[in-house]
Amino acid sequence: MPPGEDIIITAWLCLWLGVLGAVLGSFLECAVSRWAAGKAPFGGRSRCDGCGRTLGVRDLVPVFSWIFLRGRCRFCGARIPAACLGAELAGAGAFVCLGLRFGLRPELGEWLIWAGLLLAVSLRDWADRTIPDGLLAALAANRAVWLLVLREPLGEALTRIALACAVPAALLALVLVLEKLQDREVMGGGDIKLLFALALYLDWAQMLLGLLAACLLGLLGAALADKKRGAAVPFGPFLSAGALAAVCFGGPVIAWYTGLF
Ligand SMILES: [Zn+2]
Repeated sequence: MPPGEDIIITAWLCLWLGVLGAVLGSFLECAVSRWAAGKAPFGGRSRCDGCGRTLGVRDLVPVFSWIFLRGRCRFCGARIPAACLGAELAGAGAFVCLGLRFGLRPELGEWLIWAGLLLAVSLRDWADRTIPDGLLAALAANRAVWLLVLREPLGEALTRIALACAVPAALLALVLVLEKLQDREVMGGGDIKLLFALALYLDWAQMLLGLLAACLLGLLGAALADKKRGAAVPFGPFLSAGALAAVCFGGPVIAWYTGLF
């Protein structure tokens, strides 16, 4: 919590951010799954994939509908993908973490849009292993707009970004060498591009910490997925989660580490 902030204001803020994040997660899961299937992402009422019936308000309350209906359609009993619940919880969790980190300050707007775009990136990567350039461009545009809105000193911001970009640049060089040696794809091109997009927001220490957290989460995810379906795990969602963790909770870790020297 930012110093000097009232605990009741923060609690209210986080409550509403949790609701907003869950609603956004629900909406994005639906839009991105349509988009990945080659349909128009927006437009049309929500329907059950099983029976095609139009869903009502009580089928669409984030998190609670899924739990109350036990993950099944009220009409035909078809399974509602767990990804829906996952997206709602991820949206709520991300927004609450950002609320705790930034409080009711203007830059919260920038970070909420950042998290929303990362959620869309993660869902799309999860759905069909692609990270669309359009979403990465939107991340860059959001940063540029808020740079102007918040009147950040341009020189400082550009220096920070250049230093942060050294992390994905070094990784790219390493990946290229490894791919040359092993003659196979080591890391998806989309993941590297996503890291460059993240470098617009995070400083170099946060980038390193986020990457480390992403690798640990990714290993855990891969271990769990191996047992379940044996498919390759997309890295985008883990990079996003790692970056969020570095931004929201990385401060003390980075301060402790740099204090060692
Ligand atoms: Zn149904």
